[in-house]
Amino acid sequence: MKNKILGIIGGGQLGRMTALAAAKFGIECHIFDPDLNAPAFQVCSKTYINDYEDLNAIKEFANGIDAALYEFENIPLKSAQIIEELCLLRPSSFVLSVSQDRLIEKKFLLDKAKVQTAKFYECNSYEDLVNAKNLIKGSSVLKTRRFGYDGKGQIKINYDTDLLEAWKSIGSNKLILEEFVPFKRELSIIIARDHNNNVQVYDTVENKHKNHILDQTIAPAPGISDKIAQSAKKIAINIANELDLIGILAIELFELNNGDLIVNEIAPRPHNSGHWTMDGCVTDQFEQAVRAAVGINLGSTERLFDIVMQNLIGKDIYIADNLMNDPNCRVHRYGKKEVRPGRKMGHINHLIR
Ligand code: AMP
Repeated sequence: MKNKILGIIGGGQLGRMTALAAAKFGIECHIFDPDLNAPAFQVCSKTYINDYEDLNAIKEFANGIDAALYEFENIPLKSAQIIEELCLLRPSSFVLSVSQDRLIEKKFLLDKAKVQTAKFYECNSYEDLVNAKNLIKGSSVLKTRRFGYDGKGQIKINYDTDLLEAWKSIGSNKLILEEFVPFKRELSIIIARDHNNNVQVYDTVENKHKNHILDQTIAPAPGISDKIAQSAKKIAINIANELDLIGILAIELFELNNGDLIVNEIAPRPHNSGHWTMDGCVTDQFEQAVRAAVGINLGSTERLFDIVMQNLIGKDIYIADNLMNDPNCRVHRYGKKEVRPGRKMGHINHLIR
């Protein structure tokens, strides 16, 4: 194989771990991120420190690589489309367009992939919001269609919530109001699909959050029945096929008491709930994303260890030094210089045996 160059749009920890996975194949990475201190810049061969809207820089970036992938969804669609004209973009700009807007995403999931979602209503005005609230009997969640993450851009609406106040404070008029799902627990599943339509699916995991940020992933999801594991897998395959995905896709699910699974959202990139695969599986999610992007056959997703993945948020990173001495702890640090509350600084994979 000729030495290929992979472009990564976004230089956060996901881009960094993708570049490290690519290096195993002798693949160089060029990374595009406007932040001079992007952690992935420490592990790549070329940097593009430009705004994502800078189309000249985007063109230069795309002309210098064989294939590209993105590590987050909020890049301008136009930039993704330009990259796609000049080199392989995997996943495609179509997949990006679906996943970067909650309304488009939910409609796609329901109408095209035919999977279950929470009931939702489009809200473009305060009147829409009042009408939607009347249509949803119990509690609901008001969400911005774009740029939401880690619980940002959303407000829980209870029967006594001041709706006008919520409308004013959310800071956007492109919203959805979604039924509140009384889930038993949160699960996720990651699927990889290649350009020959082959798929590899990881085990379904359980995710626990603190302050709206992922705290722990338990792999596999404790006590998951074969039936639920199979239905999660079926959901993942339906969505990936319908998107004609080339790359990897994470699917966040709510498990209900009756065993039904509701799809919350999808992310066509390596996902925090897939970090356990780095020490738990034959092929981790980052390597899988690289393989799909440059056209190497997908690797096995077989689980070798049960894992509890613990995120190191903010000052948690200071415990990493100690844990590195534990033979059953695999410590991953993201090389971020500044420790800030709520910032993902690293993670630990505890091997369970
Ligand atoms: P999201 O940004 O959509 O992933 O939402 C962040 C978190 O908010 C989820 O992981 C859930 O814990 C919670 N959440 C979001 N939507 C709903 C919903 N419709 N019902 C109940 N909880 C929700």
